[in-house]
Amino acid sequence: MAVRDYTIQFSGLAEGDHRFDFVLDKAFFALFQEEQILGGRVDAEVTLDRQSRMLVFFFDLKGVVEVVCDRCADPLLIAVAGKQELIVRIGEEGESTDDDLVFIPEEAFEFDLSQHLFDYVHILLPMRLTHDDSADGKGCDPEMLKLLERYNAEKPSDNPWQGLEKLLGDTPNEN
Ligand SMILES: [Zn+2]
Repeated sequence: MAVRDYTIQFSGLAEGDHRFDFVLDKAFFALFQEEQILGGRVDAEVTLDRQSRMLVFFFDLKGVVEVVCDRCADPLLIAVAGKQELIVRIGEEGESTDDDLVFIPEEAFEFDLSQHLFDYVHILLPMRLTHDDSADGKGCDPEMLKLLERYNAEKPSDNPWQGLEKLLGDTPNEN
């Protein structure tokens, strides 16, 4: 998978709202030289409000990521959910000190969202990543690891997340 899959070609888009859906999976997280997130599946609904001199992105992220437990070093599942906003100003000079504001040159015609999506998932992670704080509310549980092995072995088309969602319940970590 190329980062191109997460790049929006905005130059040909009419002004107004445009909707994009992205799936952040194991292959996505593997694009980055960072090992905190091992895999998972996060659905990112992105709405782009295309304006003449500005792109306004709204992100709605929801899913589950696999990380390493800070205590037992075994895999751990964390439910993540949250919204973010990003403003991209076209043709303006400037150094943004604000994470929610980016400047791009006049001649730009596309915008790569991958680093932003990656950062947003990390923002949604709790400070401490241990089984005690995990979405399933259990301690470092061997049953959980068995479950992990099972769905990791399944094909993506089998939708292994269905069982997982049931297990995690409907209590994502809202930041
Ligand atoms: Zn643990």
